[in-house]
Amino acid sequence: MALVIAQVIVDVSTAAIDRPFDYHVPAQLESFIHPGIRVHIPFGPRKVQGFVISTSDETELDEKKLKPIESVVDIEPVLTAEMLELGKWLKDDTLCFYNDTLQVMIPAALRANYTKLVKVENASVLSEPFQNLLSKDLEVDFASLEKQHLIQELKVHLDTGNATIETRIRQKAKPKLQTVYHVIDASIELSGQAKKQQQVVDWILETNSKSFTIVDIQKHVQVATPVLDALVEKKILKKSKQEVYREIELLADTSIDKVVTLTEAQKEVLETINRAQQNQKSETFLLHGITGSGKTEIYLHAIEEALALGKEAIMLVPEIALTPQMVTRFKMRFGNQVAVMHSGLSVGEKYDEWRKIHRREVRVVVGARSAIFAPFENVGLLILDEEHESSYKQEDSPRYHAREVAKWRAQFANCPVILGSATPSIESYARAKKGVYILLELPSRANAKALPPVDLIDMREQLKGGNRSMFSMELIDAIRDRLAKKEQIVLFLNKRGFSSFVLCRDCGTTVQCPNCDISLTYHRMGEALRCHYCGYEELVPTQCPHCESEHIRFFGTGTQKVEEEITKLFPEARTLRMDVDTTRTKGAHERILHHFGQRQADILLGTQMIAKGLDFPEVTLVGVLNADTSLHLADFRAAEKTFQLITQVSGRAGRHEKKGHVIVQTYDPEHYALVNAQTHDYLGFYTQEMQMRKAYQYPPFYYLTHIQISHPEVITTADYAGKTAEWLRENLSQSTAVIGPTASAISRIQERYRYQCMIKYKREPNLTTALHQLLKLSRTQWEKQGVRISIDLHPSTI
Ligand code: ADP
Ligand code: ZN
Ligand code: ZN
Repeated sequence: MALVIAQVIVDVSTAAIDRPFDYHVPAQLESFIHPGIRVHIPFGPRKVQGFVISTSDETELDEKKLKPIESVVDIEPVLTAEMLELGKWLKDDTLCFYNDTLQVMIPAALRANYTKLVKVENASVLSEPFQNLLSKDLEVDFASLEKQHLIQELKVHLDTGNATIETRIRQKAKPKLQTVYHVIDASIELSGQAKKQQQVVDWILETNSKSFTIVDIQKHVQVATPVLDALVEKKILKKSKQEVYREIELLADTSIDKVVTLTEAQKEVLETINRAQQNQKSETFLLHGITGSGKTEIYLHAIEEALALGKEAIMLVPEIALTPQMVTRFKMRFGNQVAVMHSGLSVGEKYDEWRKIHRREVRVVVGARSAIFAPFENVGLLILDEEHESSYKQEDSPRYHAREVAKWRAQFANCPVILGSATPSIESYARAKKGVYILLELPSRANAKALPPVDLIDMREQLKGGNRSMFSMELIDAIRDRLAKKEQIVLFLNKRGFSSFVLCRDCGTTVQCPNCDISLTYHRMGEALRCHYCGYEELVPTQCPHCESEHIRFFGTGTQKVEEEITKLFPEARTLRMDVDTTRTKGAHERILHHFGQRQADILLGTQMIAKGLDFPEVTLVGVLNADTSLHLADFRAAEKTFQLITQVSGRAGRHEKKGHVIVQTYDPEHYALVNAQTHDYLGFYTQEMQMRKAYQYPPFYYLTHIQISHPEVITTADYAGKTAEWLRENLSQSTAVIGPTASAISRIQERYRYQCMIKYKREPNLTTALHQLLKLSRTQWEKQGVRISIDLHPSTI
């Protein structure tokens, strides 16, 4: 018989190991070893897990030296053939290890649970066996320590503070089991005393049950486990354990889903999408429709088509927009066919939802970013709602963007992608204009209700009029009016870019970089203002450079403070606050929205979390307390993000019978992001923003790549950041700009200083090759000094 060899990606992420290793497949494991299955393998002195990516009958190595696979982790593959391909592409596209891309595609519950990192601060105090173990490699196999009875000793040292254990073990979420009773023979005679048992048998005979759970029978007969166990003893019943899924609690109102007749505009859009589905075309549609135009309705119909064609569908929604309302709408339409995935679920719940997909028990997935990896094998449609959201980009390795993964999967599966938004990202809209995407538009609300009027309130005028409160007189009056009418109010506090910039309260000036048209970022250390794009630096001014006012300071207010002020101004109002603090516990988000929907409060006060997806008929006033914070983010997308936020929040008002009104408070009412948001003019904003992007050479006209260098010592960090910049300047073409190094926005995280370089280029064919070399250089040489480099090829925020 031919030798069976498996190519395995080991679960160790370092540069030296980023390739498949050949292992021998023992005969008894042959039937299990398929691409996509995980295995236990020896690797050097350690035992690790790995993914089998392929099998073959030959190896370039000496066959006799091959080590055997020890055992399998799974009974069937956890990754599909598509996922293995996708992982390969993703590793190159995001410059990370193959192992990292494979790990990100499986649920947390399945991620390796066999190693613990043992970090010893003072090894000399440990006894010899430990020193031997630890001197080689600070990562040791915990299980083997356990076997060698060394754990006890380590614990002692833990207590004395000489060693710390960093737990890397994740509790494996065990499938939830329930006891099921199977009827073997109910005709057996029972003795006279066994009255309860007789009742059970009668019930079985009457209902002709073949199997049941204790909950099933308790609905009819008052019994406890011992009675059933007695019947098991008598061989009337047989007991077994059966897996059940954890039920996800839904608090939303089920009246949300109503059957509608599509408008002509909706029909046209849907037909175009459905034609692509039927013809198996991997086109990308950009669905630009104002809030309430019926985009979600299009998604639902398009998914129906996918199912009718015998295919599966993946629908992504940004985490904060994955409201119970949204989920309910999908559950009502597709029932048990839907799996839901978001970060609010426990590890176990996520695992259950994943298994429903893996076992083909569902055909639709609604989820946040990582749901793009749903292991379907027959995908017919991919949807990203709110495609402009930066949360679709993962900020740590692998730094993937769900939009790019969706497009890859669509290519693979020959099916369309829908990118939907009321405020498409500038890049996507530019692509649609160029014809790379197909633009579909829904310019009016489905129920023909007009968009609400938006008033911009100039806060500088308020200050002049002696109003130092964070509420303008106009907003106070409007709130009072709605309270009297018993209508509901949503107040939005913009926390984006919070406290990071300096603003003059008298004239609205923020301090800008003279070279970059980007707000300077406030650094507490040294009271300095810095530009993250070019490194320009100055001291925090004590006087406004524009109007000489002394009311210039860094800007910011917390939701709690606003809540206090609301209580002072409107003692009769009932307020619900939604921010990171009030939504920390599981289900809190849902509860707050549910209470508000039940009209248990008059005012909903919140941050970004409330900007999306909410649909409450009684909300007739939306107030934006500080529109400007996000305008002054140290980010070339600041205007875009502000326009998106204001447009989205405005969309929350007057969606139904009652007319809505939006009040936006700002220090900069002439800013084009606000002016265009006021008139609901996406195209107007797009045109102006594109001019800015072109003038200052930002995407989509130029590309940016972000490189971060970190080290515990500031001098070393700066030193290697300089080396990095120098290396880049030598190895990239003349036309490519290398900007920096500069200190990062957050200059120190987890005791590591951070510097960054930026690469700006129009065409740089050599880029990935060069960056791979840079990574190799840093991993083979700089890492010994403790220097770490991370590269983001497509940064979403800077
Ligand atoms: P979007 O996703 O663009 O914000 P939705 O699909 O959520 O829009 O639709 C907004 C509201 O209009 C929802 O309450 C929805 O039920 C309703 N709606 C959508 N399409 C129609 C239609 N053709 N006729 C009547 N109501 C509709
Ligand atoms: Zn000023
Ligand atoms: Zn600058």
